[in-house]
Amino acid sequence: VKSVSFKRLRTSGETGELVRRQMQANRSKNTKPELALRRALWAAGVRGYRKHRTELPGKPDLVWPGKRVAVFLNGCFWHRCPVCEERGKVKPPKTNSEYWSAKRSRNEERQAAQLSSLQEAGWRTVVVWECELKASPDEAVERIRAALRAG
Ligand SMILES: [Zn+2]
Repeated sequence: VKSVSFKRLRTSGETGELVRRQMQANRSKNTKPELALRRALWAAGVRGYRKHRTELPGKPDLVWPGKRVAVFLNGCFWHRCPVCEERGKVKPPKTNSEYWSAKRSRNEERQAAQLSSLQEAGWRTVVVWECELKASPDEAVERIRAALRAG
């Protein structure tokens, strides 16, 4: 009995750690992917953004207020990245899987609504995925550049 309860304890501890890290990655500012994106933009000579504009729907990570361009950097887990889902790369915790699945679906829906309300207000929105940033930061930069040119 003892070993069973110990195992259970350990498992929930591990899940807790995983969840904690994912929450942190989602919430905190200046995360690694964000720094990588800003570095890539800097290297490409794309400047003039503001960070974390909390007054805008969805709190875009980077914003060019004058050009009305908003960039969202999406964590692949939290926003259900289609590429990672297809490749089976993002695995939600096994415990409470329904809870996580519902939570991620809500994130996805909420962001879709935020993007359309920004677009209705005349903003151009660019979504950059965390995995994209690792694989091909230049493409992400190019999409942002195109949005800025159009603005
Ligand atoms: Zn991804």
